Amino acid sequence: MAQAEQSYETIRYERPSENVARIMLARVETRNAQNLQMLYEIDDALDVAMQDDEVRVVIIGADGPHFSSGHDLKNRGRIGDFGPPKMGVGGFREPGQAGHMAYEQEVFLGFCWRWRNMPKPTIASVQGKAIAGGLMLIWPFDLIVASEDAQFSDPVVTFGVNGHEYFVHAWEVGHRKAKEMLFTGEALSAQEAKEIGMVNRVVKREDLESETLALAEKIGRQPAMGLKLAKMSVNQSLDAQGMWNAVQSAFGLHHLGHANMRILHQSAVEPTGAKKIRKQAKEAKPAS
Ligand code: ZN
Repeated sequence: MAQAEQSYETIRYERPSENVARIMLARVETRNAQNLQMLYEIDDALDVAMQDDEVRVVIIGADGPHFSSGHDLKNRGRIGDFGPPKMGVGGFREPGQAGHMAYEQEVFLGFCWRWRNMPKPTIASVQGKAIAGGLMLIWPFDLIVASEDAQFSDPVVTFGVNGHEYFVHAWEVGHRKAKEMLFTGEALSAQEAKEIGMVNRVVKREDLESETLALAEKIGRQPAMGLKLAKMSVNQSLDAQGMWNAVQSAFGLHHLGHANMRILHQSAVEPTGAKKIRKQAKEAKPAS
């Protein structure tokens, strides 16, 4: 059951026009790092939007200069703190790699795939940096509108893992670019992302909100059933090519990476990795 939207603390749920709902990430002080509370609030807000028959399209945007800096590594929280688990996974308190895997099956792999398959069209509206887990708040959604300064990166190979947990990189940017972005940790600019088909539209920063809303309103004038069937058809085309199997397979390798680091360093990620990622984020090439 969806909670009252007024009680959200890490996001805002808005209705900017008749057929459009908008979820805004609102943890500017952490560059919208996603913690457990934010993930459950997004999940709940998406349920609110899906259950409201007046809503035809959902926008996911972010306050502040950057869309999302990824996982909040300081503030993970525990499953159950923000409502019951939703993905049918248990064993969150198990020692070894088991509890960690269960956690990521619930809120990363599980939520991303659930959001990807929600029936109404969704649009991510992105400015500034989207780093690693930040991409998990973009790639599950149907369309991406980016401002000229947007940059997309997944530098977590430096943690000793393959990439973030919703491993759709090759599907999103093509296999060769996926390898480059993972091997180097470098960011894709908005323009580059548009050229390879990852981003639908690039707009000026000051026009991001209005352009995204105009696109949502245009889509919202279409019949809901037509939109739902079109979305399902495109998703099923990807599924027929093995997308879900590939994502689950990469998730298993992701946990091999975490387990390897636990054995070597008693830490789920390479201990110096966070420092390197912060450095790379600062040096990220400017948007072209
Ligand atoms: Zn992980």
